[in-house]
Amino acid sequence: MDGLSIGIAGAGIGGLAAASLLADRGHRVTLFDQFEAPRPVGSGLVVQPVGLAVLREIGAADRALDLGALITRMRGLEAHTGRPVLDVSYGREPGLALHRSALFAALHEAACRRRIQLRPGARVTGRDGQRFRFADGTGSEEFDLLVDASGARSALSPLRSRPLPYGALWGVVDWVDGAGLDPSHLSQRYRRADRMLGVLPIGCLPGDPVPKAAIFWSLPESGHGAWRDRGLGAWAEEAAALWPEAAPFFRQIDHPDRLTMARYSHGALRRPYAPGLAILGDAAHRASPQLGQGANMALLDALALARALDHFPGLPALPDALAAYARARRWPVRTYQALSAAFTPQYQSDSRWLPVLRDRVLYPLSCMPPLPTILSRLVAGRLLPPLGALGALGVAAARESAPLPRDRAA
Ligand SMILES: Cc1cc2nc3c(=O)[nH]c(=O)nc-3n(C[C@H](O)[C@H](O)[C@H](O)COP(=O)(O)OP(=O)(O)OC[C@H]3O[C@@H](n4cnc5c(N)ncnc54)[C@H](O)[C@@H]3O)c2cc1C
Repeated sequence: MDGLSIGIAGAGIGGLAAASLLADRGHRVTLFDQFEAPRPVGSGLVVQPVGLAVLREIGAADRALDLGALITRMRGLEAHTGRPVLDVSYGREPGLALHRSALFAALHEAACRRRIQLRPGARVTGRDGQRFRFADGTGSEEFDLLVDASGARSALSPLRSRPLPYGALWGVVDWVDGAGLDPSHLSQRYRRADRMLGVLPIGCLPGDPVPKAAIFWSLPESGHGAWRDRGLGAWAEEAAALWPEAAPFFRQIDHPDRLTMARYSHGALRRPYAPGLAILGDAAHRASPQLGQGANMALLDALALARALDHFPGLPALPDALAAYARARRWPVRTYQALSAAFTPQYQSDSRWLPVLRDRVLYPLSCMPPLPTILSRLVAGRLLPPLGALGALGVAAARESAPLPRDRAA
């Protein structure tokens, strides 16, 4: 049977993944993005084992593994007392931390190996039936299926998410050997819940062999102006007082513009589809990055959509395929949304009692079996079958020969 003609808005993480997965199944895919040349924006992120399994299915995993840094553990301490607050090991399947541009490069190169039409400079402002409408007043050709993968500012998605009170400043610096931080850990420090700072090893950027780290500094959503007014010197001093080992990372920031304020929001569509339209990734659901699932959710959505179209092939079955896509992702998305809403205020809020509960009750509980195993499954993205009735995921299995961050830095 002939494949469908599919137009995708957004050549980001979800859009690029969907384009490759759908092209492999014989669909005719056209991918639109607002940028003249596809380009990634952002800082570091963690592709969890489930996301890595999707990259492997696309043939993008080896390139991502070449660039990124394997993460085996997430560890956070209370800054003043040094008491552990968070300690989650990945077990046999590590996560992969990398810069958004590295993940983008892996997915973009994979898409370019397929027969996919890439149309840059096309800002989608809406849809007229089965056509995209663009900012310059023109429209696309008609497609059997439109896919909205245009992220958190989608013009097509009806999702109106709730802004979260805290965001974070993000930046990229060189990895510092000898500072005492483990190059395979996401390391964090907290002061109550109103300060959270972290260092995430992210491997290398495409075309640059120097290993990097993403650093982040939690701030109230409205606090960016006050942070700038305070000056970099005072900020670097505060960072060094809270976490002396990380000072060589934070001190590399020599201009406020090297840190970008990311604002977070929370919400999910009850129905991530409409007749002739599938919505995936941030356009369908958004949460704070506390559980590190944003990119993974977009990758899993893309695979679920591709498999749903396998189960219900052809145009007449499209409504069934879209419903199957939504069903498959409903509980994994709802579960991670609920857990993210529960966890985020413990680390990013003005609450005085939540951090006490976190440090004195929840952390000790989290060390008691079987909770360490459950937490490992939670961060790996495997708490629930991520594709529901649409089948199992392959094994993420980091390549045997993948260099560990420590080897690369040496
Ligand atoms: C700018 C930015 C920076 C981010 N940085 C981080 C980070 O550092 N760490 C982290 O964990 N997560 C980060 N995220 C979140 C994480 O990357 C997302 O959860 C994940 O990328 C979701 O994938 P997606 O495909 O839904 O959206 P995205 O990967 O954001 O892709 C959306 C794509 O749609 C395009 N687009 C948007 N609007 C239109 C339009 N109207 N018409 C055509 N094309 C359009 C964009 O150019 C982009 O290519 C960032 C997101 C964004 C948008």
